Amino acid sequence: MNTTGVRDVGVVVIGAGQAGLSSAYHLRRTGFTPDHDFVVLDRSPGPGGAWQFRWPSLTYGRVHGMYALPGMELANADPARPSSEVLAEYFDAYERAFGLRVRRPVDVRAVREGTGGRLLVETTAGTWSTRALINATGTWDRPFWPRYPGQETFRGRQLHTARYPGPDAFAGQRVVVVGGGASGTQNLMEIAPYAAATTWVTRRPPVFREGPFTEEAGRAAVALVEERVRQGLPPRSVVSVTGLPLSDAVRRAIADGVLDRQPMFDRIVPDGVEWFGGRHVDADVILWATGFRAAIGHLAPLRLRTPGGGIRVEGTRVVSDPRIHLVGYGPSASTIGANRAGRAAVRDIRRLLAGDPAAAA
Ligand SMILES: Cc1cc2nc3c(=O)[nH]c(=O)nc-3n(C[C@H](O)[C@H](O)[C@H](O)COP(=O)(O)OP(=O)(O)OC[C@H]3O[C@@H](n4cnc5c(N)ncnc54)[C@H](O)[C@@H]3O)c2cc1C
Repeated sequence: MNTTGVRDVGVVVIGAGQAGLSSAYHLRRTGFTPDHDFVVLDRSPGPGGAWQFRWPSLTYGRVHGMYALPGMELANADPARPSSEVLAEYFDAYERAFGLRVRRPVDVRAVREGTGGRLLVETTAGTWSTRALINATGTWDRPFWPRYPGQETFRGRQLHTARYPGPDAFAGQRVVVVGGGASGTQNLMEIAPYAAATTWVTRRPPVFREGPFTEEAGRAAVALVEERVRQGLPPRSVVSVTGLPLSDAVRRAIADGVLDRQPMFDRIVPDGVEWFGGRHVDADVILWATGFRAAIGHLAPLRLRTPGGGIRVEGTRVVSDPRIHLVGYGPSASTIGANRAGRAAVRDIRRLLAGDPAAAA
C-alpha cells in the first residue's frame, strides 16, 4: 500500500464468475501471486458468479453445454440439484484448490485513469492502482427491460426473468411471457402447466434449430458476435444467432400450443396487453425474458464506448486501451468462451507488463 492508502498491484480482475476465475487461474499458473501481483474482486456474497442467483428449478441436469473451469472437472454432480447450489460449491472448491483469494463482497464503483499509466479501481473496500485490468463482470447485474406505452399503468405484477421464482408462483394466473431466447422458452414451458393461461410474444419470429449443434455452427455464431464487437457495436447474445434447439420438450410444447408465438403487443393497459386493431389479452403477470446487457457501468469514466454504443474489442483487448481486457463479453459470453477468453487475456497482459510493444498497440 502506498502513502495515500491506495494499493498497488499488477492486475485487477473484476468479477469471479467463469470468466474471472479462468483469468485468475491463468494468472496464477503463469507465476502471478494472488493478493500481491493480482487481486480478484467480486460483489456477490458467495462463490458461483451469476449461477448462485439462478432460479431453483434450473437444475444441474437442465443446464446444457456447461464447460468446467480450467484445471478441475466438475464430477459426479447430482442432475436433480439446483445448478445454483452445484456451481456455487464447485466454484468454492475451485477457488480454494488454486488459492485464488477472491475478495468479496467488493463492489467496483468506478475505474479511472490514474497517474504514471496506471488505472485506479475504486471499490467499496478501498482503491487499487493497477497496470492492467481484466473485466469479467458478466451481464446478470444488468437485466434489460424494454419500455412499452402504458407499462406504468399495469395493475398486475411485472418481473424480469432474472428474478424468476419458479413455476408455482404463477399458479392460476394469466401470464404474458415476453422474449424468444432460451430463458423465455424455458420459463414458459415450466409455467404453462400451472398457469390459468399463457401468451408468448416476441419481437421477431423465433428460429428453431433442427439437429445437433455442430462445432462448425458454434464457430460461425461466435464469429458473428465477434464481428459486432470488433466494430464497436453492442454485443448480441450468442443464442440470438444460434437459434433455439428443437428438443423433444420444445416439439411437445409447439404441438400443445404452449409455444405459440404472437407478435409483440403494442401497448400495456391496466388489465393486460393490447395490439393495434383492438386485440386484447387479460394478464395478471408480465414476465420480461428480454435478456441482459454487459454490466460495465463502472468503466464509464474511461470513455471506452464508441458512437455505435459498444466497446471496440479485438480478441479480448479493448482497442482504445490495451491495458483493459473484457472477458465473458460478447463472443466469449458462454462457459467455453469465458475459459478461452481468460487464457487469451492473461497471455496478452503478460506481454504488456513485460513491455512487448505488440501487446500495447
Ligand atoms: C439462465 C442461464 C443459463 C445459462 N446456461 C448456460 C449453459 O448451459 N452453458 C453455457 O455455456 N452458458 C450458459 N449461460 C451463459 C453463462 O452463464 C455465462 O456465459 C457465464 O457463466 C458467465 O460467466 P461470467 O464470468 O462472464 O459472468 P458471471 O457469472 O455473471 O460473473 C460475473 C461476476 O462479476 C460480479 N460483478 C459484476 N459487476 C461487478 C462490479 N462492479 N464489481 C465487482 N463485481 C462485479 C458479479 O457479482 C458476478 O459474480 C447461461 C446463462 C443464463 C442467464
